[in-house]
Amino acid sequence: MKVTELTATSKNQSSANRALKRRLPGRLFNDKDSRFHASLDNLRLSCLPNAVIRVQEAADVGVVLQLATRYGIPVTSRGAGSSATGSAVPLKGGWALDLSGLNQVVIDPVARIATVGAGVVTADLQAQVEARGLFFPPDPSSKKYSTIGGNIACNAGGMRCVKYGVTRDYVLGLQGYLADGSPFQFGLPLKKYVSGLNLRDLLIGSEGTLGVITEANLKLISKPEKRWTGMFAFKSEAAALKTVVALFKDGVNPSILEFLDRQSVGCAEQYTGKPIFEGQARSAILLVELDGRPAEVREQRKKLLALMENRTAAHREARTETQAEKLWQVRRTCSQSMFSLADTKLNEDVVVPLEKQAELVRYTLALKKEIGLATPTFGHAGDGNLHVHIMYNRDSEADAERAKAGIHKLMQKVVELGGVITGEHGIGLAKSPFMSIQHSAAEIAAMRAVKKALDPLGILNPGKIFDAFEVWDHEPVDVRLPWDHR
Ligand SMILES: Cc1cc2nc3c(=O)[nH]c(=O)nc-3n(C[C@H](O)[C@H](O)[C@H](O)COP(=O)(O)OP(=O)(O)OC[C@H]3O[C@@H](n4cnc5c(N)ncnc54)[C@H](O)[C@@H]3O)c2cc1C
Repeated sequence: MKVTELTATSKNQSSANRALKRRLPGRLFNDKDSRFHASLDNLRLSCLPNAVIRVQEAADVGVVLQLATRYGIPVTSRGAGSSATGSAVPLKGGWALDLSGLNQVVIDPVARIATVGAGVVTADLQAQVEARGLFFPPDPSSKKYSTIGGNIACNAGGMRCVKYGVTRDYVLGLQGYLADGSPFQFGLPLKKYVSGLNLRDLLIGSEGTLGVITEANLKLISKPEKRWTGMFAFKSEAAALKTVVALFKDGVNPSILEFLDRQSVGCAEQYTGKPIFEGQARSAILLVELDGRPAEVREQRKKLLALMENRTAAHREARTETQAEKLWQVRRTCSQSMFSLADTKLNEDVVVPLEKQAELVRYTLALKKEIGLATPTFGHAGDGNLHVHIMYNRDSEADAERAKAGIHKLMQKVVELGGVITGEHGIGLAKSPFMSIQHSAAEIAAMRAVKKALDPLGILNPGKIFDAFEVWDHEPVDVRLPWDHR
């Protein structure tokens, strides 16, 4: 079965635009800048929508989808457009649906639930929640820009997932509209809910292909009273990653557990002009955060330091927030400094079982030799989610061929190790060629059947997830996005 895909003809697109302007005056923008801005995300492939619809209230979405159904217009939802995979790119044109205007937040401190518009920026929600002594843990590195709707649609993760889980673990209810414009309410602002099939969880991570989310009820927890951060150097990647397994065996419960391989650390050291640990240049590193009540953090720190004693070559502890910030700066520097290796970074977000991480990193080193391109790797070692990067120069055809081959090999290896091709970023366009490595034909057919049932005309975000799209055949645009620091 193939999901029907729409490409609006210019005739019905013009009629649809006229109808939309009548029903929702002032919402449709088809100037060059608005269309270009909504044409891309962090993958930097640009497909122009015919027009951008800026939603002002939730009910607008119902009207947009009714008209899209009537006229056969593709609709691609977008929050901040920070997706790493092209999932927010309006591949088939039509309308880009900008939900960033839905930015209301209501916090119920008694029920510990926030009711949040899809366009609320993640960090803004966290600041409001923390001002009340509460906590919304999901923390993608893009949190200063990304929206809650986008986080839910991608089931975003971040550094704190190791202790607190991913976005899905905090979603109680979702409100929004199905492809034909009918409203839905899957779940409620309640901690318990087992009525009917759980379509709420089906929508989480569906990348805007099954419905448009306008509002979410999010679970909040108590804000941890204390935090402690430590950084540990190791002679090899294997030593660091074996320590990750040992640490959990010993009952250490970190709130963050990040790993940096020696290639990444080497880049950061070259960038800053000094070793991170004096006398231990180019070590592999683990960054650990503990949080909770002061007594709990004290007890966990003791356990952690005892375990590290014979394993680490050097370590450093943060005694103040400023010192902790300095340690986290090391992680951020690694990411930026990789561009000394080549001008283009492929950032994968694969996951393998904890005890297979050392084997995966060994493989990235073998791959580096085989394809002749650097493969710096860092990431969320506490949940097996490693960002393997392949660095290449965009203008070199030979480099690009080797990078493309390298990514395919990497994905094969990840699946062989019992892992998954994406743990945070989703499929979008970039990972679509690897769906058949991860999933059987029967699994993909079941997913397509769900898509067909909820979106029979294929209006919502067509061309994503299921149809293999070759990003290598398309030239990325040279554009500076809000999160670019280079
Ligand atoms: C610098 C940087 C760091 C990042 N770090 C992380 C990280 O640590 N962890 C992580 O998980 N991801 C990370 N990402 C990826 C990205 O930020 C996340 O996927 C984020 O959740 C996307 O949010 P957004 O508002 O930008 O969504 P968009 O990019 O606008 O959209 C993403 C997808 O969600 C759909 N969508 C958006 N809003 C809605 C809605 N209301 N209803 C239905 N569908 C919708 C879109 O159609 C699209 O398919 C990072 C990206 C960047 C650029």
